[in-house]
Amino acid sequence: MPAARAPAPTRAPIRWDYAPAPESRGAATLRDSYDLFIGGQFVEPADGRRVATVNPATEEPLAEVAWAGEADVARAVAAARAAAPKWRALPGLERGKYLFRVARLMQERARELAVVETLDGGKPIRESRDVDIPTAAAHVFHYAGWADKLAYAIPGRAVRPRGVVGQIVPWNFPLLMAAWKLAPALACGNTAVLKPAETTPLTALLLAEICQEAEVPEGVVNIVPGDGTAGAALVRAEVDKIAFTGSTAVGRDIQRTLAGTGVGLTLELGGKSANIVFEDAAIDQAIEGIVDGIFFNQGHVCCAGARLLVQESVADDVVGKLWDRMQRLRVGDPLDKNTDVGAINSSAQLARIEALVAEGEREGARRRSVSCPLPERGHWFPPTMFLDAAPAHRIAVEEIFGPVVSVTTFRTPAEAVEKANNSAYGLAAGVWTDKGAKAFEVASKLQAGVVWQSTYNKFDPTAAFGGFKESGFGREGGKAGLRPYVEIVA
Ligand code: NDP
Repeated sequence: MPAARAPAPTRAPIRWDYAPAPESRGAATLRDSYDLFIGGQFVEPADGRRVATVNPATEEPLAEVAWAGEADVARAVAAARAAAPKWRALPGLERGKYLFRVARLMQERARELAVVETLDGGKPIRESRDVDIPTAAAHVFHYAGWADKLAYAIPGRAVRPRGVVGQIVPWNFPLLMAAWKLAPALACGNTAVLKPAETTPLTALLLAEICQEAEVPEGVVNIVPGDGTAGAALVRAEVDKIAFTGSTAVGRDIQRTLAGTGVGLTLELGGKSANIVFEDAAIDQAIEGIVDGIFFNQGHVCCAGARLLVQESVADDVVGKLWDRMQRLRVGDPLDKNTDVGAINSSAQLARIEALVAEGEREGARRRSVSCPLPERGHWFPPTMFLDAAPAHRIAVEEIFGPVVSVTTFRTPAEAVEKANNSAYGLAAGVWTDKGAKAFEVASKLQAGVVWQSTYNKFDPTAAFGGFKESGFGREGGKAGLRPYVEIVA
């Protein structure tokens, strides 16, 4: 008879305490008040209106920001119109030089931009420092390089810029979205009016300072912070193209307004992307990808992997490991370099997340939220998963845009594809398997603009990004991102 094994010694639970490592707030000096940026100058709004922008992690006001009204938007569009002939007549090489300057200045001011992005939007400094700002600069570099190579991007055709473009961006990646919009537009010879989101105008205004410092000709870039009214005014203004990133509801309104007007339109709207884990995936690696897919930027990500589809045979293992990992996420001060999950961007967004999560519970899905201490002030939501979410539950259908993942199982690749495609959206997806052939086969059947294999949320300026179905149309990034900013003339 084998000797009885000695009982395993009880291990002390691993503690994951870190000393706070706050980024210095002093890396950014904010002014008390910011004006609109029109015609190369900072100018007062016509009606003098100013609104405080608030740090969502503390609810403290950061600065007063001039609020554009309809007259200001018209003035910005007129400035862009006046600057258009000279800008489009510049050789591409020269336009590219301005963009290279802007990109280099963004790099020089990267630390300041990262701190301001985190203060204004609530995202962890680790993300603004390592993702938002470097990727924004990389986009500007990328399109600086294209400015004199349009003939190679669209070979055999003669193209011309569209003219004046209106660009409306959301609050989840304020500087990055501004760079995604402005860089290809300018490279192609257009002039632009950009409206940042009302909760996160600051880095766009720092970008305006950078444009001034780079001596970008007056009127080529105009930046008009304001609310949805300013966005709507820009859509109705004398522009030649609108590029919008935001909610499907507003995207629909814009499409209705512009129908039949001949104004060009690209829409990058929401998503409810599937992250599919097969039984042959490297599970520990997949857990990191699931976490990155849904908790990056508090889930305020259009392509967030909000629907986790796990093959039934490994579901218990994946859910158990994911739950362990979720409990180790550090939620709190966004300026702390250890923080994984920062503040929810606004009280309105927090209310939206809370309402949908309550609806998920009411409809019968099983909720598991991490019980971690949350700061007393500011807007916070704990990392959350829903088990047993039925495909018809609102939490499995609607964009929550928060740190909430719903988990469903599948048995076969065909079922995974069917469930993944069972969505009004079609922005992104993740496929986790160690079989290359299976990954390609599944990816080819997914209705998603981007499919990541064994990774998630990777953004590269050379790669096109955009959706199908209610996720919008048009592509941003890479060579494809130039096409919406030119007209083919011959
Ligand atoms: P919106 O679509 O309202 O905001 C996006 C941008 O559009 C902002 O700059 C906004 O200004 C502007 N805007 C608002 N109304 C109009 C209008 N009528 N015409 C033109 N521009 C307009 O998104 P919300 O901030 O209200 O977020 C709501 C939901 O939308 C989120 O919960 C999320 O599900 C989804 N969303 C998706 C995003 C994505 O990347 N796909 C990004 C943001 C939100 P203002 O900031 O003043 O409202």
